[in-house]
Amino acid sequence: TTKYLADCIFCKIIKGEIPSYKLLETAASYSFLDIGPLSKGHALIIPKYHSVKMHELPDENLTDVMVMAKKIALGQGIENYNILQNNGRIAHQEVEHVHFHVIPKPSDDQGLVLEWKTL
Ligand code: 5GP
Ligand code: ZN
Repeated sequence: TTKYLADCIFCKIIKGEIPSYKLLETAASYSFLDIGPLSKGHALIIPKYHSVKMHELPDENLTDVMVMAKKIALGQGIENYNILQNNGRIAHQEVEHVHFHVIPKPSDDQGLVLEWKTL
């Protein structure tokens, strides 16, 4: 299922009304680079279903987002990374459209991928 909110910035990114560096898109999910990366390659994965919090998502949208997280990790070849997902202002959620952060963890001796590719 897809559902959009007209004045949501992440819904606008999905619809192409705000530009983004897209990594991967499916019928139900969309992933792109974070504009304020915590590490090189910091990505966001969002459902094409506007809800504020993770527990408000239909099961199929939640599943699709997590499958996309797996595809991103495999496709970009990262081995060390954190998945982060904030719900609610007190828990540091700034954008009120569910999103999962994929944050590659750099190692000391080996640089991360220089450029992420669109899959
Ligand atoms: P939160 O704190 O809500 O979990 O994370 C929101 C994330 O969205 C932040 O890491 C921030 O850098 C990112 N972000 C906010 N606005 C935009 C935008 O317009 N484009 C992109 N690519 N990322 C954004
Ligand atoms: Zn939205």
